[in-house]
Order: sequence, then C-alpha cells, then structure tokens
Amino acid sequence: MNNHRIHRLGVFILTLGLFVPAISLAGQCPPASGVAVQVLGSGGPIADDGRASSAYLVWVDGKSRALIDAGGGTFLRFAEAKANFGDLDFIGLSHFHADHSADFPALLKSGSFRPGNGSLTVAGPGGSSPFPGLSHFLTSLLDSDSGAFAYLGDYLADAGRLKKMNAVEVARENTGSYSVYADSESAIQIDAMHVPHGIVPALAYRVQVGKEVIVFASDQNGNKPEFVDFAKDANILIMHMPVPEDVSGVGRRLHAPPSVIGTIANDADVQMLIISHLMARSLSQLDGNVGLVSSKFSGPVAVADDLDCYKINHWEK
Ligand SMILES: [Zn+2]
Repeated sequence: MNNHRIHRLGVFILTLGLFVPAISLAGQCPPASGVAVQVLGSGGPIADDGRASSAYLVWVDGKSRALIDAGGGTFLRFAEAKANFGDLDFIGLSHFHADHSADFPALLKSGSFRPGNGSLTVAGPGGSSPFPGLSHFLTSLLDSDSGAFAYLGDYLADAGRLKKMNAVEVARENTGSYSVYADSESAIQIDAMHVPHGIVPALAYRVQVGKEVIVFASDQNGNKPEFVDFAKDANILIMHMPVPEDVSGVGRRLHAPPSVIGTIANDADVQMLIISHLMARSLSQLDGNVGLVSSKFSGPVAVADDLDCYKINHWEK
C-alpha cells in the first residue's frame, strides 16, 4: 500500500464521523447490481506518476456501460477491470489531448474481436484550430481510405461486422447542457457541457442512471459558473487536480487550483468529491492540496487511484 492510498483512505475515514456516506469504496468493481464508477486512469499527461492517464468506467448492474475518456493506459486498465467492450453503449471523449484519447483506437481494435450487439455512441467536442473536432478525430483514425487505422474502418462504414458507431459532436456554439445519449430501457441519460480548458475545446459529462448522477468535470480552469448547475446535486463529482494552488500562466488557464475545485464542489452541493488526474507536481504537495479543497468543501473528499471502485447506494437528499 503506497502513501497516497493511505492518505486517501485516511481522508475517507476522517469524513465518516461527520457524514454518513451513501457511497462506499467497494472492494472491487463491478458490484452485482446498482451503479458504480471505477477509475481506470487517475494520472496526468506526464509519465511521471505511475498511473494511467484519464479514463473512468460506469458500471450498471454488473455491466460496463459507459466509458469517459481513454487516455494512455486505459487499454490495460480496461482489461484489469474485467470490462467488456461488447457491453459498452457509450464512450465520451472529453477532449483531444493525448492523455484523454490516445488509447481509443486500441480499445476499438480489442473490441473488434468481441463486438457484442447493439450500437456504440461516441461523443466529443467540436473542433477549433489546432484541435480537431470529434468527426475529424474519427475520420483521421478510421476512414477506410485515408485513416491511420483504415483496417478498422468498418466502425464508421457500418458494415454489420462491428458495433455501429454513432458519432455525436458537440459544437462549441452549444455552450449549455447538451444531450448526447439517452436509453429508456437502461434509464441511462448522458449530457455534455463545454468547459474552459485554455484554447482546447473540452467537454464535461453528466451521467445519470435512474436517480444516480456522476459528473466528470474533465480538465477545466473552473471559470464557467454554469458548470456548477451542470454538476448540481451529483452523487459523485470527479474533478481533475493536476496543478497546485500557486499555479499561474498557461497552467492556470488550463486547470483549476485546489481551492477552486473545493468551491465548485461546495456550490454544486455534491454528495462526494473525487480528485483525480494527478501529476507528480500535484502529488508532491498532496496533503496541502487536499486540505485546500476541504477548506472549501465539507463533504467527503477522496483521492483517486487506478482501479478504485465507488458504488452509489441510493440516497435521498
Ligand atoms: Zn489532461
């Protein structure tokens, strides 16, 4: 057990006295029933933290139904989590920095061996130079003539051999909450919202399964007040903390410092906050940074580790 894990459990246990969490750090995903989120990648963009880059899996009644982000290392963690590509209905890519999307084609390759039934909705932001939008990203990878992985072109061509891919690109003009997926049978509803991440088009996702809500803030600087409403009353809010409090310049235009993360969680009145996307520079001051988060948000705060599994036990506010 490493120091970070001890710290995380310590924070979790300390909060128990103040608050009876309806969210439990389950031993292992998937629980046989109910909704759980599993951290596949809790690391950042630099290979210095011993973690996979950004990725999260939503389990519903024992099935891996939705994946948010697919950064480097997702491929390995997906297998370690015993997730099944055939069960996936939805992949939401928050943006096209490599630490959020680089393992996407590797997962598609894996899935081509066991495609399962049904379709796969893939959502992502619209583009803005020098960042491509989702449709450009998919075409550059999967176009059956010009794609880097043209041999996986059947995903776009809908040839019947693979899952049918529905691409949902959220244009930058859509500044509010935007529905990207809804399935009445499974009661899964997913909305996206553009969030400020420097010049990079980026989406946060709100995944609702029945009454349970998990919000994935992705990389953002925390300066969009509407995001608080988007995250309102979530059971779990996952926010990214790759930088420390004294961040400035480009780092601050890209990312929220710890006190801003805590303020957002407080204003959104979420049940639990999970801090993720950790880099060596945020881990080196982890105790202080978590303290700054907790100085603004009095609910339970957990620090993510790869493969951590959080089960939501239904809870009425
Ligand atoms: Zn990132």
